[in-house]
Order: sequence, then C-alpha cells, then structure tokens
Amino acid sequence: MRIFDPHIHMSSRTTDDYERMAAAGVRALVEPAFWLGQPRTNVGSFTDYFDSLVGWEPYRASQFGIRHHCTIALNPKEANDPRCRPVLDVLPRYLAKDGVVAVGEIGYDSMTPDEDAAFSAQLALAVANDLPALVHTPHRDKVRGTQRSLAVVKESGIDPGRVVIDHLNEVTVGLVKDSGCWMGFSIYPDTKMSPPRMVAILREYGPERILVNSAADWGKSDPLLTHATGAAMREAGFSDDDIDRVLWRNPVEFYGQSGRLDLSDMEDLAGTYAGNSILRGGD
Ligand SMILES: [Zn+2]
Repeated sequence: MRIFDPHIHMSSRTTDDYERMAAAGVRALVEPAFWLGQPRTNVGSFTDYFDSLVGWEPYRASQFGIRHHCTIALNPKEANDPRCRPVLDVLPRYLAKDGVVAVGEIGYDSMTPDEDAAFSAQLALAVANDLPALVHTPHRDKVRGTQRSLAVVKESGIDPGRVVIDHLNEVTVGLVKDSGCWMGFSIYPDTKMSPPRMVAILREYGPERILVNSAADWGKSDPLLTHATGAAMREAGFSDDDIDRVLWRNPVEFYGQSGRLDLSDMEDLAGTYAGNSILRGGD
C-alpha cells in the first residue's frame, strides 16, 4: 500500500512517527500551515514557521524517505487577531516557493467578519498564484460553516476542482459533492471520523474526488489512520486499485494541479507517471 497523506501536521510529531509512517507505506505528504497551540503574537512568528515548513520539515521527512510538501496561509482561528493579520502581506513571497502546493488552511473557525475577509483575500491569492486551496470547515456548526464556505468559494471565481473542503462527515459530504469541490476527511482515533465510517462513505459516494488524511495535530491523533483506512477498505472488499486511488492517486491528482509536486524519482512511480510534467515539479 503506497500512501500520500494530504493533510498532516508533522511539526507536532516525533521522528518515531516518521519512522512508523514510512514503515506503513507513507511516501509523501502535505503539511498545511496552521496554529501553534499557543497563540502567535506577531508576524515574525509566522515567517519562522513558514520557513520551517519549506526548509527544516522537508529535510526531517527526507531522512525517512518521505517527500514533504506544504500549504501556506493565515489560519481561520488567528485571522481574528489584529496582531496576526499583517501576515497576509507576506504570503505572496511564500506562495512562490517550490514545495508550496496550495493556499491553506483557510476557511472558518467561528465565522466572524474578520474570518470572512481573510478567507476571500486568500482565495484571491490562490487564483493569482495559480494554486489549489485547502479549506478547513469549523468543528462547531459544521453544516452552516460548510454551506457558507461553499458560497465564498463560488463567489471567488476559483475553479471548484482546485478546492478541497476538509474535515467533512456524513452530514456535510453531500453538500460538497454537488459543488464540484474535492471532499476531504480527517480520520481520528475516537472523535469525528473513523476508518469504518470512512468506508461507509466511500461505499455510498465512490472514490472520486475524495481525499483521506490523518491530520495528526496537537490533539489526540494517529498518523497511521490513513493506513488503517486502507486496511478497512480491503476488509470491506474494495480492490487494491480503489485503495491506491484514494490513498495515492487522488492526492497526487489534486495537489499535482499546483505543478509543484516533487515525486520524480520515487521508484515505482517511474513507470506509471513518466512523461507527466506536472509530477516532475521544480521545472
Ligand atoms: Zn489541519
């Protein structure tokens, strides 16, 4: 099983996790920019973090044979802090870098006017920089948050095929399916979405435009839940091709739209993807 985790916060994980992930088949991942737990108090705190996402963390991942990419943004939670908002002005500098494959996580936390402003400004940055966008949906009031996110996405004029709406569940997946956006699911050990529930969703909606991630943030989480979902799919009778599509080819297709995925010399990709310039990246 080869795995591309499309949403995992490796900065909050140890090298033991990298080791276990590599052993479980994780070969590539995307680490979205998010909050640090402790609130940031100035823009320098963001730029040091962004530098780590494009520099240090890819190096750490490479020691375990894992290809690391990231997304860059002002996250919804911190969009409410006037000390943080000026980071919007430095984002274009980071969005131009190799290894940055989308604008994200953007979207809503508490659905405030400040979050509205940061969300639409960053969708405009995605369009201007020809990048996909990763949209986080709020944990509270999820249905309304998802509907409102879809309305803002539509209004921005970005191609819905270049947007993933993440942290979905049984109640919100249908809304996103109809919008043409990609559907993201974060699998957690005991809250939100579990591997068996994910399998039921895949049965109902099929594998198209679906991304499965293990999030692995500051809360209780498990970076091997992508693998556990693949195992649950196999047990439920999905083919190896379906599993490979959900856990590898879908994230490659979605983030490949950035033109910056660097999977070029990964052994068993050579045959399948030779000649696909998107996947050579960096050129
Ligand atoms: Zn996240």
